Order: sequence, then structure tokens, then C-alpha cells
Amino acid sequence: MRSGPSGPSEQKGQPGVVSAALSGLCPRCGAKTLFAAPAGLADECRACGLDFLSLERGGRFVGILTMLLALVLILAALGIDEWLRPPLWLIFALFAPLTVGSVLVALRLYKTMWVYHQYEERQP
Ligand SMILES: [Zn+2]
Repeated sequence: MRSGPSGPSEQKGQPGVVSAALSGLCPRCGAKTLFAAPAGLADECRACGLDFLSLERGGRFVGILTMLLALVLILAALGIDEWLRPPLWLIFALFAPLTVGSVLVALRLYKTMWVYHQYEERQP
């Protein structure tokens, strides 16, 4: 994170997709209604009624993405095991929260990007 001058933001329109994903902002009204669960989209926006379910349709790569990410983390865990030979509990203590956390963040990012993309596609 950079700490630049904190003037008023010149950017108009949508918030950055990363901050939108982290706080779960609706692409239309910007309310924090996008997620009903840590990585589960709400059916629709509680503030403006935007239909998230129909926007999410077609986002089928989520499962593949999650599996790839889990695979990378497991390989990383195996690599560290070979390299440093730490005790097993340390591996679990490090990688269990890391895996859960990064899968959640990746899912949120992916779903948010997908919904925002779909939302923009549908603008006249
Ligand atoms: Zn909304």
C-alpha cells in the first residue's frame, strides 16, 4: 500500500474492483450488499434490487480457479516440507489459514470481477 496525498478522489464511477471485492460493493449503487456469505454472492442487492444471480450466471470457472489455487498451495507446502523439514504441526498451522484465506479472497475477487464485467456488458 502506498501512502500518497489523501486528496479527494478524482476518479468517477466505479470503485476499484479490489476494494469492491473486499467490501462487497454492489456494482450499481455501491452498497455493501454483494456478498451474503464470506465467498457467496447474495441473490440480489438489498439496497437497489440489482439481480446478482443473473449476473453471476456463466461464472463457471470459479471451481477450477479454486482447485488450481489449492493445488499451488499444496505444492508450496510440499516444497517447504522438502526444503526446511519443519514439524508437521507448523505446516498445518501455516497453511490451513493461508489456504482458506487465499481461496476466500480469490473467490471474492473472481466473483466480483465477473459480476462487474457482466454488469458493464449490460449497460446500454
Ligand atoms: Zn445495489
